[in-house]
Amino acid sequence: MPARQSSATVIVAIDGPGASGKSSTARALAKLLDFLYVDTGAMYRSLAWYCLVNAVDVNNPRSVGAACKRWRTSLAAVDGQVQLLVGGKFPGDAIRTPAVTEAASKVAVVPAVRQWMKLKQRECRTFGNIVMEGRDIGTNVFPETDFKFFLDASPEERAKRRAAQGVQENLPERDHRDSQRRAAPLMIPLGAARIDNSGKTVAETAQEIIAIVEQRMRLHSGRAHGS
Ligand code: C5P
Repeated sequence: MPARQSSATVIVAIDGPGASGKSSTARALAKLLDFLYVDTGAMYRSLAWYCLVNAVDVNNPRSVGAACKRWRTSLAAVDGQVQLLVGGKFPGDAIRTPAVTEAASKVAVVPAVRQWMKLKQRECRTFGNIVMEGRDIGTNVFPETDFKFFLDASPEERAKRRAAQGVQENLPERDHRDSQRRAAPLMIPLGAARIDNSGKTVAETAQEIIAIVEQRMRLHSGRAHGS
């Protein structure tokens, strides 16, 4: 295992824009590696959902920051995933509506929210080895991990994927908000392997990542043994 990780826990960080195949790839990868899967987008979505349900103005950073201080949450490992529970329950499909999608990228620009999320997301490693996907995992949440990946696909392919899922959203606008915000913007992490998965299947992308993870592990164990 890489000596520079503080414990023996392995973190695979997967970042990328919306519809870049992060979720399906990270899920498949976690299964193949027998690691826990963590969807950090679901955490931002849950806060957005909580704000909408409790009439908190998602355009007001102070109100959102205050809501993030007061909501009652806990982490739990359920069916191979680490989930953020709100009031003891995972909100489920309620966080996948267009209104929540829109609100999620608004609450995500609030620095106090990002700080809170970072601590919560780092806490996930207490459950064991993880594959964590999001927008700032390799740059901000686990910059020390040796296993960083940035997934991308052509704008046409990403739009096609969303349409096939029957999801309506303004991807360019969300990409813009995610990559232009001041706090932990979406960008390619230093040392990340960038994979354009246009035209590739989820299984192909997952195998490509596994090959790189194994290669980096071999490199590190070679270094640790002085070879
Ligand atoms: O990945 P998903 O589309 O579920 O993420 C919803 C929103 O949450 C993103 O548009 C982004 O604004 C925010 N997010 C983030 N940082 C992460 C994960 C998600 O800012 N690590």
